[in-house]
Amino acid sequence: MTNTAHVIDGRHWASVARAEIATAVRDLAERDVYPHLAVVLVGEHPASMSYVKGKEKAAREVGMKSDVIRVPDTITQEALLQLIGELNADADVHGILVQLPLPTSIDEAVILGAVAPEKDVDGFHIMNVGALSLGLPGTVPCTPLGVMRLLAYEGISVAGKHAVVLGRSNIVGKPMAQLLLAQNATVTVCHSRTVDLGTITRTADILVAAIGRPAFVVREMVKPGAVVIDVGINRVDGVLCGDVEYAGVSEVASAITPVPRGVGPMTIAMLLNNTLLAAKRAHAIL
Ligand code: NDP
Repeated sequence: MTNTAHVIDGRHWASVARAEIATAVRDLAERDVYPHLAVVLVGEHPASMSYVKGKEKAAREVGMKSDVIRVPDTITQEALLQLIGELNADADVHGILVQLPLPTSIDEAVILGAVAPEKDVDGFHIMNVGALSLGLPGTVPCTPLGVMRLLAYEGISVAGKHAVVLGRSNIVGKPMAQLLLAQNATVTVCHSRTVDLGTITRTADILVAAIGRPAFVVREMVKPGAVVIDVGINRVDGVLCGDVEYAGVSEVASAITPVPRGVGPMTIAMLLNNTLLAAKRAHAIL
């Protein structure tokens, strides 16, 4: 009989997370605290416009204040820094998100570094990256945080397991590895220069794919019974797909996230989670 992996329903778990956040937002309102997310959108990149719209809607749905500050892509780095400075100084704003990518005329690292660490709901500021690495309190990037939350919701334990992370980006792969390590997994990080990748992935109890290559992970690369988390978002002939060849891999894995409706919805839920945390910290409610 062919094995069929349990499907980890990210859309369901994201709605559970959002309901928990909505309750917490209502509790904060009783203390006159209103979590407020400010999203800065530079230019009119179609994908960015759609992501930003989704984030604003999600924030409003859990009762948060949310606004999008739209600026033209001709804005100078100086003017953008000034805008971020104003948001940093605005006590009413708890979370600031600068939608990426930025125009090439602007240095992304400078802009991300200008967001006050305590308002950096993306967790990209060097202070938050350092805090994660040191195991100190800070803000954790939304996508890897969402993956950890999915594993927890599903009751999948991480301690002692061999977790293999495909991809070493600053926004997914590296923080993913840190979080798994912090929960006592034995972690291997693979990247484009890894030799004999399949041999490594076949030893993974938990395999996280975050490389941006459609259907890269095939069943022969997966250990029977492994948990497979597909972070990839690719578009092939207008159709969304992940980094995992879903049909084949679900015949060997014990659990798998689909694309869409897997990790993606959790990413937005964790943005709300981080905004809530930022508001609580700003008001010393812990
Ligand atoms: P990046 O392009 O920044 O990083 C890709 C990583 O994959 C790099 O470390 C690269 O290695 C590695 N890689 C590329 N090709 C291969 C290969 N053939 N074999 C092994 N490793 C490879 O991507 P991101 O981390 O930003 O995103 C990864 C994927 O996740 C994308 O599809 C993106 O759209 C998606 N994503 C999804 C989110 C969600 O909410 N679900 C959120 C964020 C991203 P090297 O470092 O050597 O170049």
